Amino acid sequence: MEYREILRIIESEISTMPYSGKVASYIPELARIEAEKFGMHLYCIDSGHYHFGNSEERFSIQSISKVFALTIAMSLLGDTPFNRVDVEPSGDPFNSLIQLEYENGIPRNPFINAGALVISDILISNLEDPKQHFLEFIHKITGNNSITINTKVYESEMRHSHRNAALLNLMKSFGNITNDIEAVLDFYTFQCSIEMSCKELSTAFMIYANKGKLINNEIEVIGPRKIKRINAIMQTCGFYDEAGEFSFRVGLPGKSGVGGGITAIHPGQYAVSVWSPPLNPKGNSELGMYALERLTTLTGLSIF
Ligand code: GLN
Repeated sequence: MEYREILRIIESEISTMPYSGKVASYIPELARIEAEKFGMHLYCIDSGHYHFGNSEERFSIQSISKVFALTIAMSLLGDTPFNRVDVEPSGDPFNSLIQLEYENGIPRNPFINAGALVISDILISNLEDPKQHFLEFIHKITGNNSITINTKVYESEMRHSHRNAALLNLMKSFGNITNDIEAVLDFYTFQCSIEMSCKELSTAFMIYANKGKLINNEIEVIGPRKIKRINAIMQTCGFYDEAGEFSFRVGLPGKSGVGGGITAIHPGQYAVSVWSPPLNPKGNSELGMYALERLTTLTGLSIF
C-alpha cells in the first residue's frame, strides 16, 4: 500500500475517533493547548514527505528532548554517562521517586526524569554554554535555525517543578549530581520547553533512522554504534511504564512527551511524528499511539 493512501486512512479514522485522554495540566501553561489539535508527518528516506493536519505547528517537545540530550552526551563522552545512569526499563511513571531510593540514586534509564536530570548534570559539567549548544545541535540536525524554547512553558514548569527538584535532591544525596540543583533544574526545564513541529521532529530524527547521518548531505553527526544504542533505549524505555505496550502495538523505537508528541523511527526506512495533546493515564498521547499503531499495521512493517 502507498504511504499517501495509508495516511489518508489514518486521517479519516482519527477525525471521528473518540478519546478519553486529558491534556497535561501539571505544567499549567500546557493545559492551554487545544485538545483537538492533531498532526502527523512521515519522512521516508526513499520517497520523502507525507503529512496531514497540524503537522507544521510547533508544540512543546518536553521529554522528546531527552533523546537529543543523550545523543549530545554520548557524542561528547561515549559510554561514560552509563556509569551514572542505567539502561533498563523502569516500569514506573516518568517522574517516579521510588526506585531511586533503593537503587542508590542511579536512575534506571536516561528517558525517565531522574535519568534525564543526570544527563543534564553531565552536559552542564562538559559544555561551556549548554543551552546554546543544545539549540545549535537541533538547528544542525533540522537545518532550521529558528527553533527555540517557549518562554511561558519554561517559566510555568520552573514554578511547578517540585518533583524534579525532589529527584535532584535525592540523587545529590547519593553523590550522583555534581552541579547545583537549581542549575540542573533550569537547564533540564529549558530543553523540555523547546518547541518543534511534527515535520521538524521527523527531520531531526532522521539521524536515528539513517545510521547517524544527516539525510540531505550524508554528513555523520554521531556514529552508527551509538545510534544503535540510543535506538535500543528508545525501544525499551521510550514510553516509561508503557514501553512494553508501545512495542506490542506499534513495534518501533520512539519517544513521547507530555506536550502530546511522539516521534518514532523505522531504521533504514523513515522517521514519523504525531502530535495530539490528550494523554492516556501513562502520560503518552492517546490518539498519537493509535495513529502509529495503524501506520505499522497498514504497512505491515515494523522492526519485528
Ligand atoms: N518537563 C516534563 C517533566 O519533567 C517532561 C515530562 C514528559 O514529557 N514526560 O515533568
